[in-house]
Amino acid sequence: MENSDIADRLDAFARLLELGEASPYTIRAYRRAADTVRGAALPVAELVRSGRARELRGIGRGIEARLRELVETGAIAELEELERELAPDLVGLGRYLGLGAKRSVELARALGVRTADELREAAAAGRLRTVAGIGPKTEAQLLDALAREPETRSRPGLLLHRAWELVGGVASALGGEPAGDVRRWCDSCEHLAVVGAAADPGPLLERFAALPQVVAVVEQADRRAVGVTVDGVPIELVAAALERFGTELARATGSREYVAALEPLPDAPNERALYGALGLPWCPPELRERPFRGDPPALLDPDGIRGDLHCHTTWSDGRASVEEMGRAGRERGYHYLAICDHTPAVGAVTGLDADGVRRQAHEIARANELLAPFRVLRGIECDILPDGRLDLPDDVLAELDWVQASVHGGQRMPEREMTKRVEEALRNPYVRCLSHPKGRYINRRPENALNLERVYEVALEERVALEVNGLPDRLDLSGDHVRDALEAGVEIVCSTDAHSIRGLDNMTLSVMTARRGGATAAEVVNTRPLEAILERARA
Ligand SMILES: [Zn+2]
Ligand SMILES: [Zn+2]
Repeated sequence: MENSDIADRLDAFARLLELGEASPYTIRAYRRAADTVRGAALPVAELVRSGRARELRGIGRGIEARLRELVETGAIAELEELERELAPDLVGLGRYLGLGAKRSVELARALGVRTADELREAAAAGRLRTVAGIGPKTEAQLLDALAREPETRSRPGLLLHRAWELVGGVASALGGEPAGDVRRWCDSCEHLAVVGAAADPGPLLERFAALPQVVAVVEQADRRAVGVTVDGVPIELVAAALERFGTELARATGSREYVAALEPLPDAPNERALYGALGLPWCPPELRERPFRGDPPALLDPDGIRGDLHCHTTWSDGRASVEEMGRAGRERGYHYLAICDHTPAVGAVTGLDADGVRRQAHEIARANELLAPFRVLRGIECDILPDGRLDLPDDVLAELDWVQASVHGGQRMPEREMTKRVEEALRNPYVRCLSHPKGRYINRRPENALNLERVYEVALEERVALEVNGLPDRLDLSGDHVRDALEAGVEIVCSTDAHSIRGLDNMTLSVMTARRGGATAAEVVNTRPLEAILERARA
């Protein structure tokens, strides 16, 4: 047995343990062991036979026993049993119905079924109530969940980057177009949909059902199917007739209210033709949240962004150095990038005090020598203390090119205190931008009680911009708040809050969120040249 074969079996074991909701520690241990075996210079089978497997890093007694079984018998019995029981489609359907993996497997075992289809048949035949522990009430709930339209089911939405990964992957595998909530760049996506064009829908629906992302099909009609992922997330495919592709794409993209206001939609092969037939200009999907018929504004273009004004480095909790972040910014075609590491009050990670800020200045100066004319800006993400004071003295802030002020701890303050706290910080003459103003984590922590109306007034007076934070679980300000801020005359900044080079890619999420609020380039500070940014800092 080759090392790669052994590693593959360990990986398969880890995957099934994960599906079966085993402890993350065990799952990680098997993954690590697989990596070790794959990279080992010696034949691992021989090490196992001679009782030396534990000399390899990360191989403990438990995994050694599995390896011995594998090498001696060519198989791991428990792995084969898990493979038989933990059919991904069964687990996916179970999760979609709100059951954990273990409960789904118990149910399947009791019913003697192996696949999602067999489970559905058994349910339809009234056999659920024959299972111990399933009373009439639970049976009714499960049957109801099976019968319900997937869209009417309430479940926490998927974060935008995850939703794009799923919907984008399915769309490109089928040669279709992403639609649903991701196409509008919703911050939490519930309606996941792909629209494909097909004269004959049969083969397209079959290819959809066979995709690795789709473990079970829970609904199927002539030109439509709903599949679920292994995590129980429903995704819809619309197989549109060629002459109706534009119609179906628009219908699957807009919010219910937006589409309802345009009905009846005429047949059209593409969206331009559809809007033309309606006598309307084409509307960017980001603006299809509410009924809208007018001329859309010239929305901010992602290419118009000239720099990122909020990112971290290894000086606080980032993973890349100042130079690496700067270089990555330059490669993205930016003219500038502000390093805004944390200050000590942030707590959970190391923050820069006055001395740290000054030491970092040397490293930034060196990076600028290497990267000129690209400019790495000296910035800070300065904590706003509970009483509204900032976490660094003014003379230190005065040295910097760009100061972000942030509330981290104490997001639960009542409205008056929170608003006063932030107002106080915005009055500081060196603060340029308020980070993630509402402090939410999508689907995890609600927005704080900050009174944004008041914040807009103060921000306008003090010429402080508000951030549209591009972290996929923040997206803060949200599109709706961006709209209000712009109406109040406040400027915004599109930032990534990147903690790594890859994190810089989240600029798209920030820009699209700003577009949902109708932002144009003129209203976004970091579409401007470097001189304008520095001037703002000196003003
Ligand atoms: Zn922050
Ligand atoms: Zn940050």
